[in-house]
Formats: sequence, structure tokens, C-alpha cells
Amino acid sequence: MRIFLATGNPGKVKEFRRIFKKHRIRIVVAPASVQRGLHETGKTFDQNARIKACHIHQHTGGWVLADDSGIEIEALRGAPGIRSARYAGKGAGSRELCEKILRMVRRSKSKKRGARFVCALALSDPKGHVRIFQGICRGRITREMRGARGFGYDPIFMPCDYGKTFAELPAAIKNRVSHRGLAARKLAKYLAANRDKLMN
Ligand code: IMP
Repeated sequence: MRIFLATGNPGKVKEFRRIFKKHRIRIVVAPASVQRGLHETGKTFDQNARIKACHIHQHTGGWVLADDSGIEIEALRGAPGIRSARYAGKGAGSRELCEKILRMVRRSKSKKRGARFVCALALSDPKGHVRIFQGICRGRITREMRGARGFGYDPIFMPCDYGKTFAELPAAIKNRVSHRGLAARKLAKYLAANRDKLMN
């Protein structure tokens, strides 16, 4: 089965390809020209994922998968949330994003380092019907950046029960516990259970 993926983030593409390989789902990145006209105008992860999936589906048809995800931090009262990608300004890389969070948490009143990653996946079928799957991964913000793997906020996020950041953990372990891994497994389970009905 082939699914068009609505993202320009190479970190997400890599994770989806790895997660879906064993479910025999082939991920094809939607053309950049189609993704360019996309505006995330929603107020929640679910709304933004739906907006992305519908936009891509209008151009490609077929099955489409869109991911909207981000990190919510206790000391920052849930920020950056849906603004995670743009938190340190347009074009900022992983280092700038992580440094900004570390600075903001240090300066915050509560200094509470509890955090969670949220992922909303929107799956559009060939007729354009959309279904949402969510995954949440709880953990803590570290005091400094650690590790070289992954992308985005991985160097400062330590999932519960692991003494390492996502950027220090092997990809297979991140995918097992991450927000994206959880949401993707829910989606794969749904596809497997409804394969006959969905393919006709
Ligand atoms: P968007 O879903 O394209 O709006 O961007 C989500 C942003 O949240 C990404 O650009 C990352 O900065 C961050 N993010 C989402 N998932 C992860 C993850 O698994 N690791 C690290 N950062 C993430």
C-alpha cells in the first residue's frame, strides 16, 4: 500500500519509513510544490493535521497521511505546542529551538520541567474521508542538550523511565515510546483491521 506523506521534515519522513516498513506501507513524500501552498491555520494538533491531509489529498488523491506534532512544557504553560516548529523564528534549526526552550524554562517562575510530545496523524482515504490518530509521550526537559540523533527537540527531551534523551536513544527505542510511534501503531492497527473494507 502506498501513502502520500504531507511533510517536508526529513526527521519525520525517516521515522515514518522505519515505523511502517514492517506493516508493508510505502511512504511517498508529497511533492514540495503541493506542500508549498499549505497553511496551518488550526488551533489544535488535530485540526492542523486534518488541514494538511485535506490540502494534499486535493492535489494527489489516493491515501494521504499528515502529521502535526509538537512539545508542551509545564513551565511554559503548554507552550510552544502547535507553534513548536516556529518557536525560535522561521528557519531556526534544532540547536536554536532547544537553546530557546532551555533559556525560557530557566527564566520561568515555576521552573517545572515536566513536558509531553503530542502527535496527531490524519489519514485521508482515496474518497477524502479523514480519520485522526493521536499519540502522547510524557517526560522531562533536561538542563542541557544531550545526544546527536533525531531532530527538533530530541536533545532536551527525556521520556519517562529512560535516563536518556530521545537524541541519545537508538531510533528503534524512540519509535517504540514516542508520540509518533504510538499514533502510527494505532493507525496501522486500524488499517490492518479494516483492510478489506477500505481497499474496495
Ligand atoms: P509541524 O508538525 O511540522 O508543525 O512541526 C512540529 C515541530 O515539533 C517539529 O519541527 C519539531 O521541532 C517538533 N517535533 C515534533 N515531533 C518531534 C520529535 O519527535 N522530536 C523532536 N521534535 C519534534
